[in-house]
Amino acid sequence: MDKVFYAFGTSNYIRVDAAFSSKWQQSMLEEIEVMCDKIDNMFSVFKQTSEISKINQMAGERAVFVNEVTFQVLKRAQYFSNLSQGAFDATIFPAVQLWGIMNENPKIPSMHKCEAVKKLVNYKQLILDEKEQTAFLLKKGQAIDLGGIVKGYAGDRVRERLMQSGVTSALLNLGGTILTIGNKKDGSSWKVGIQNPLKKRGDIVGSVQLNQDVLVTSGVNERFFIKDGKRYHHILDPRTCEPARTGVLSVTMAGGSGIDLDAMATTMFVLGVEKGIPLALKMGMEALYLLDTGEIYATKGFAEGNYRFDKAGRENT
Ligand code: AMP
Ligand code: MG
Repeated sequence: MDKVFYAFGTSNYIRVDAAFSSKWQQSMLEEIEVMCDKIDNMFSVFKQTSEISKINQMAGERAVFVNEVTFQVLKRAQYFSNLSQGAFDATIFPAVQLWGIMNENPKIPSMHKCEAVKKLVNYKQLILDEKEQTAFLLKKGQAIDLGGIVKGYAGDRVRERLMQSGVTSALLNLGGTILTIGNKKDGSSWKVGIQNPLKKRGDIVGSVQLNQDVLVTSGVNERFFIKDGKRYHHILDPRTCEPARTGVLSVTMAGGSGIDLDAMATTMFVLGVEKGIPLALKMGMEALYLLDTGEIYATKGFAEGNYRFDKAGRENT
């Protein structure tokens, strides 16, 4: 049984192949949808009541006490901000807002405005106090955006819930964060397509085999607009506060933890191949880059290991 639902500003898909009644499966799928909605409400910068919005509203004024889950995700976002020396930046929101890529009418901002925003984006000015469990943005106008990490966090929670309830076969796709449990009902492995970012949805360059794994892709195709023939996408380079241009069309990460892979996919997109691949290896993650030259760069796991990227492969979900 499967279900498509909207959360995290995107379309999500879940499929459960369980040896349970269809009524049970249906209520499980509904529970998952509610769960994702809750997580979205907790973390979204676009919801005024979320804890993240409260931290943003209090920027430059005071520290805000947050619940433990929010604090842990913030810590992880801060970890990847530090690890990448700011290629991933948890305080990217002023730049995201400036471009309006998440809105109906995105636009190219003036240089002047970009310069002003550059002064605000700075993860080092996000102060997390472990003891008090508070978050504080030092300057007014600064704002956190966890859009690059929250789908991975949600994926981990959903998978955990499904496994707890005895589901042995499932596939979950939260806007490009894909998690699987076990094999398909017929015993074969899940095969997930790698989208060609420049073609229409479903046009894939190959497929990857998955089993109890997580696969996360960040690409130029998720959200973008085209102006005068040039593509402006939603992954921004915090140093320029413009869409990151490293010749990357997409980067797919594979491994075990949704939250970490999600953060890393966004990070690796900004870093580009030369800096990205060594970082992935250091983190023990697999990476597959599609470049605008048509080249594909992959670590061993995709080339020959567990995840085997098959160029002629098809999706078989
Ligand atoms: P993803 O699709 O996981 O790569 O996440 C992209 C989203 O993360 C964007 O829509 C922004 O909300 C946010 N984002 C964009 N650029 C960055 C960045 N350099 N560091 C952290 N988050 C970012
Ligand atoms: Mg991400």
